[in-house]
Amino acid sequence: MINSFYPPSRTLMGPGPSDVSPRVLSAMARNTIGHLDPRFIEMMDEVKIMLKHAFKTENELTMPISAPGSAGMECCFVNLVEEGDTVIVCQNGVFGGRMAENVTRLGGKLVLVEDSWGAPVTPAKVEQALRDHPEARVLAFVHAETSTGACSDAKTLCKLASDAGVLTIVDAVTSLGGIEIDVDGWGIDAIYSGTQKCLSCTPGISPVSFSQRAIDKITNRNKPVPSWFLDTNLVMGYWGAGAKRAYHHTAPVNALYALHESLVMLLEEGLDNAWARHRSNHLALAAGVESMGLSFVVDEDHRLPQLNSITIPEGVDEAKVRSLLLENYSLEIGAGLGVLAGKVWRVGLMGESSTRRNVLYFLSALENTFNELSVDINYGKSVKAAQSVYDA
Ligand SMILES: *Cc1c(COP(=O)(O)O)cnc(C)c1O
Repeated sequence: MINSFYPPSRTLMGPGPSDVSPRVLSAMARNTIGHLDPRFIEMMDEVKIMLKHAFKTENELTMPISAPGSAGMECCFVNLVEEGDTVIVCQNGVFGGRMAENVTRLGGKLVLVEDSWGAPVTPAKVEQALRDHPEARVLAFVHAETSTGACSDAKTLCKLASDAGVLTIVDAVTSLGGIEIDVDGWGIDAIYSGTQKCLSCTPGISPVSFSQRAIDKITNRNKPVPSWFLDTNLVMGYWGAGAKRAYHHTAPVNALYALHESLVMLLEEGLDNAWARHRSNHLALAAGVESMGLSFVVDEDHRLPQLNSITIPEGVDEAKVRSLLLENYSLEIGAGLGVLAGKVWRVGLMGESSTRRNVLYFLSALENTFNELSVDINYGKSVKAAQSVYDA
């Protein structure tokens, strides 16, 4: 006999999902209504308004895709890339590699601009690639590379692209709600995010937004979008402005209540305040970690506040540390991915997880765990170092 599933209560400080507020969880438990119910449609309109606000855009084509961040990525590529199109993809971690994979699977001509893992995308390399490839149609890059913790200069990269008459696809899965994004101000043409990182909603939905330039490109395609589900022309029949809502797919009704609530919470706090909170908790965590004698993978100027990659000290069993944190403290942190596997821990301070309480809890739990494993670090300083950042 299999019984009901009751998950343990965890503190989520990995690369996502992040802690979900009880407000969001209780919104999710409200009555399911029909996905074409007029009250549901009113709620959908509010989700669109709040997403526009969070992305800082007036783009009419702004909506949540009913699938995780990876589907948002695929939605942008499948609509904007046609067979034979030259696409410049910047790779400085795992997610840029997935973008490249999308381009080749769609029959695009891939131009890869590489930077090392832990470094941001180098604008001069992008400028050179745009000069070398005047036929390029799209530039794609990851704003917040969750596999390394590096933040790239989205504003500068988008300016280079628009000066060259090239459309941009920006991965903002980990950035939305955690650091500044200005879709209209920076001239981003297609952007996708995810609900389980800095929005602190349950996983499984991907907000996207497309500019008028992007829509023009989609409208003038030679062939229909090869994915039926992700074809924006069809999805908009369901999500479109004032559209007489037509059935496209059954929206994940309760998951959208959750997204609605998490956006209400983000707007109550204010975008600027949310970004400032992420920044101050990151600075406190960094002070604590560095006081132990540990170091960061990314240099100070390019660190994401919401994703902290910490170099594993020599001789430490990194998986053992993570499992002790989980067993003894019910605290989840992330392992390294790709070339950083086994070399780093990834500590997330995303959305609801970005709190003073979590920073201090993590530092003392990590220190106790090091002590248990007799790791040689500087003991007894980290909490104080973090506190002094908050006091300053
Ligand atoms: C998490 C993540 C994704 C993928 O999102 P899923 O919801 O896991 O599909 C894509 N890009 C970046 C930068 C991410 O951090």
